[in-house]
Amino acid sequence: MNVHDSERLSGLLEDAGYVKAVAGDTADLVVFNTCAVRENADNKLYGTLGHLAPIKAEREGMQIAVGGCLAQKDRDTVVKKAPWVDVVFGTHNIGSLPVLLERARHNEQAQVEIIESLEAFPSTLPAKRESAYAGWVSISVGCNNTCTFCIVPALRGKEVDRRPGDVLAEVQALVEQGVLEVTLLGQNVNSYGVSFADPEEPRDRGAFAKLLRATGNIEGLERVRFTSPHPAEFTDDVIEAMAVTPNVCPQLHMPLQSGSDRVLKAMRRSYRSAKFLGIIEKVRAAMPHAAITTDIIVGFPGETEEDFQATLDVVRQARFTSAFTFQYSIRPGTPAATMPDQLPKEVVQERYDRLIELQEQISLEGNQALIGSTVELLVADGAGKKNDKTARMSGRARDGRLVHFRPTVNPAAGSEIRPGDIVTIDVTGAAPHYLIADGEILTHRRTRAGDAHEQGITPKTAPIGVGLGLPSIGAPVVVETAAAGCGSACGD
Ligand code: SF4
Repeated sequence: MNVHDSERLSGLLEDAGYVKAVAGDTADLVVFNTCAVRENADNKLYGTLGHLAPIKAEREGMQIAVGGCLAQKDRDTVVKKAPWVDVVFGTHNIGSLPVLLERARHNEQAQVEIIESLEAFPSTLPAKRESAYAGWVSISVGCNNTCTFCIVPALRGKEVDRRPGDVLAEVQALVEQGVLEVTLLGQNVNSYGVSFADPEEPRDRGAFAKLLRATGNIEGLERVRFTSPHPAEFTDDVIEAMAVTPNVCPQLHMPLQSGSDRVLKAMRRSYRSAKFLGIIEKVRAAMPHAAITTDIIVGFPGETEEDFQATLDVVRQARFTSAFTFQYSIRPGTPAATMPDQLPKEVVQERYDRLIELQEQISLEGNQALIGSTVELLVADGAGKKNDKTARMSGRARDGRLVHFRPTVNPAAGSEIRPGDIVTIDVTGAAPHYLIADGEILTHRRTRAGDAHEQGITPKTAPIGVGLGLPSIGAPVVVETAAAGCGSACGD
């Protein structure tokens, strides 16, 4: 969500006449798009701002802006702690950034503008995309749940959904510029539809499944992913839509958070472990090869060894392809922050280590089972840290697995493989977090996304939709520009 907001900030700034700084140069404008979900976000931000203070002092006219969740949380504290910051803007008014920069310059005074609810759906702003072949498309922002560990509802507000027509128009605009893969984004995608329901009509609980099916009609769109669904609202029609829509990838990321029903209750997550496992069973019945991934928090306040064992049990049964595992840490402003029985760090660490060990073993076994199978890869740019040393490239399989492969030229295709192209290859090795494919490339398809990547062109989407809750009018405007990307101007 945050990375995609940065794409919007890049698009806005480009439209306002800014140009991306050349790598290695000192920029005239630095925008921090902050995240408050991870621990220590504040320390990192104020530390980095401290490093920038002397650089700014020496560079006449340089401006620094801080936006995102941490800015929404800290507000004018940002300029109190770092008075050399020019602009502070929140999660609900990213569209104001160019105006605030101008005002700060004109008035020679820091501008802090935080508003409490969304001014306009972010997709009514232009976006400069980072990738030529894969794009994010927001379907909703905010969340109506109240998980006790989570700061998102406080900082991003209540759920606001985009009209399906606007979502599909943005997907279409990306595909017309060569994009092959789209990820639909929302804090809770399967509550999609809650905020555009006609008050006279019962809510359409099938809205997300319908949206998935509709993406199947977009010619040229090869891969559709989404993140994240909430287990409590997961309905069978979503599984059916996934299974019957050929471009929807066999992949599901569904946060578990805890396998203990007692802890889930304390977290105010309204499903229980049996329901979670039931959804997985149905997904596997409909899509036997689906890769299922999750998020797990270890050491929630009051978690006992028995609770933790329940998490390990669910992990053993669910056999996740991989899990994003987190040690619980206090987020000031959340209900869990003041709960009694906060666990000592060493207890959390020890449980965390045990969970990682179990999950790594399961991930490895799952990946080893794929040795000998053929995977279709969308070749990615820079997805393998060791690729320079190993002479490999990387790509994502349809189920989302990362695959490192040797880009031997296929004599039949006779041309170089580029990020954005599609190859098929057999899996020859496995590790917990990736697959290896060191055999011969079976097929290589040059794509428009590969052409665009080669030419350094990334898509730009013009504003889509005319505001919150209103139907969109007319077709989206597509603007082709040379690559600028997001880069250092809006670091996460
Ligand atoms: S569902 Fe829970 S964890 Fe997810 S964004 Fe909403 S409140 Fe946060």
